[in-house]
This record gives sequence, structure tokens and C-alpha cells, in this order.
Amino acid sequence: MPYDDDLLCPGAPPWTEGAVVFGVVSRVAGRLQVDWLETKTPATPDILALTGDTPPASVLRTAAKCPESCCAHFDGDECQLIGRLVAALAPVASARLPCPIRGECRWFWQEGLAACGRCSQLATQDDHADIALREAARPR
Ligand code: SF4
Repeated sequence: MPYDDDLLCPGAPPWTEGAVVFGVVSRVAGRLQVDWLETKTPATPDILALTGDTPPASVLRTAAKCPESCCAHFDGDECQLIGRLVAALAPVASARLPCPIRGECRWFWQEGLAACGRCSQLATQDDHADIALREAARPR
């Protein structure tokens, strides 16, 4: 497990400096589902261009160094966003599948597999998110 300072935020947008792609989002039976890559890969302009007219943040899951106090979700000690997501969403079973950033993920570091059970059903940009998800994602 890395030091706290080295953790990655799995909600970082694709254009964040140093971002890596670690999953691909699809919609299955009306629900979002994340399929993990075997290894994380740099979110280069060429990779992001593969999504065509679809915003990369809608279909690619990307992570970057957690900005801690520069993020509205960070309370000085932990990310509050994942706690709200765990409370608001039911887990999905695919959460146990290998995720290539699990060893350095802030959400996993804080919440363990409970985080993965929610993360596995999210897109970084979800224009169709329901009210419960929008409320959980709202910075306090
Ligand atoms: S919360 Fe779990 S599934 Fe999501 S990025 Fe972190 S380790 Fe991977």
C-alpha cells in the first residue's frame, strides 16, 4: 500500500495532468458497468481521441494523483465523496474483479471493496445520473 500522498483519485477527469486510463464504461441493461483494463495506461491524446464524438469522461475511467486539499471533496484528511457514494448506492457484484489501480486507489484505501462495489457502476461524466447519485456527488 502506498503512502497516503501517492494515492490516485479514480474520479479524475481524463485531461488531468498525468492521468491514466484504467477502465471502460458501457451500458448494460440500462445500467453503467465498468470493465477494467489489465494494466493502467497513460491517457494520451491519441487514446482519448478513440472515443470519437463521445466525451472521454463518459466512456473511459481515468485516475490521477489525488489533489487532496485542492479538491472540494477532501476534508483535510480523507475524500468525502466515496463515503457518500457508499451510503447512496447499492454495491454491484463485479466489484471483486481485478482493478489495475487497486493498490494505489484512494477510494479503496479508505473504504475497501465497498468502494469498488460503487465505483464499478460509475462514469466520471454521467449526463443521465439519477437524483441520488447527483446529490452524493455534490461537493459539500
Ligand atoms: S474504488 Fe476499487 S474499483 Fe474503483 S478504482 Fe479504486 S480500486 Fe479500482
